[in-house]
Amino acid sequence: MTATNGAPIAEADWEQVVELIRGAGSPALACHVSPDGDALGAMLGFGLALARAGKKVTASFGDRAFSVPRLLRFLPGQELLVEPSAYPAEPSLMITFDASTMERLGLLAPYAGKAGELVVIDHHVSNTRFGSVHLVDPSAAATTMVVEELIGRLGLTIDRDVATCLYTGLVTDTGSFRHSAATPAAHAMAGRLIAAGLHPAEIARELWDRSPFGYLPVLGAALGRVRLEPSEAAGHGLVWTYVSRADRAPHGLPYDEVEGVIDVVRRVDEADVAVVLKEDDEGTWNVSTRSKGAVDVSRACGALGGGGHARAAGFSSSLPPEETIAALRPLLTGAG
Ligand code: 5GP
Ligand code: MN
Repeated sequence: MTATNGAPIAEADWEQVVELIRGAGSPALACHVSPDGDALGAMLGFGLALARAGKKVTASFGDRAFSVPRLLRFLPGQELLVEPSAYPAEPSLMITFDASTMERLGLLAPYAGKAGELVVIDHHVSNTRFGSVHLVDPSAAATTMVVEELIGRLGLTIDRDVATCLYTGLVTDTGSFRHSAATPAAHAMAGRLIAAGLHPAEIARELWDRSPFGYLPVLGAALGRVRLEPSEAAGHGLVWTYVSRADRAPHGLPYDEVEGVIDVVRRVDEADVAVVLKEDDEGTWNVSTRSKGAVDVSRACGALGGGGHARAAGFSSSLPPEETIAALRPLLTGAG
């Protein structure tokens, strides 16, 4: 994958997008498959701001099993969501959120191909610029930062519901302001959103401090088989484990509940790179990778058909965990 954008967003692109949106009666919104807090937060936050200004908004994401992850059901604006099968066939204006490639739109990718205008809003440095106009800012901590500015330029209002959506993208993509993406600009935006009346403590609890009971034995199984390989990742160390369908089944634990396992595994001091392989209900292994900075995991994941950021990236695999790790190991070379 080629990194094609390091420059700030051009003024002409902002103006063009503002004009397109002002002229659109019924914009169609989309975010990446298996949406996270930033993808869904950016899309629903923007959708709500548009809906309140009188636009007829449709929003969706292209998963075969279409369902909002339990963790994100507290987000306002879900009434805007439709299943991919109900998406407008040839949207005159389509806007994508947090998707770095057309493929990341899953079932909605063909609609993007047929859209009259395709506005791409994102913050991945690896964005392939697959639209007709691009608001891509790799210096933004979250896609919701780009959305906040766009809402401002459109003269729309950020009420408490919109703020809740935008803040969710900000806290998830900065890991609660713990990652290097937690810039002064990200903190300043959080201050503006909190002033709009949202409740940070409630959002934090929804996102990180609750689980069904079954999560604990499943986490225990994953941690029980964790492996530390100190000489891998160019000598910076690799720590990895997996969570299978068979682990989850006896506890009735849905796939999207295991997203947080990586946050436990990546704390290990002895490894720069952490990897958790998660088997979904269809038998696909989704691989989460994290780095503390010595290794560029987006490059490694990109070589295996995925992508993401230097310190947080992913890809999918149909192979068993041991074989996927065997393919990944030689790609974990030093950054830069
Ligand atoms: P997570 O591990 O939280 O699912 O993803 C971490 C980062 O990698 C996010 O920025 C996410 O968008 C990106 N990512 C995860 N899986 C894929 C993938 O299959 N393809 C691409 N292009 N990016 C991915
Ligand atoms: Mn993001």
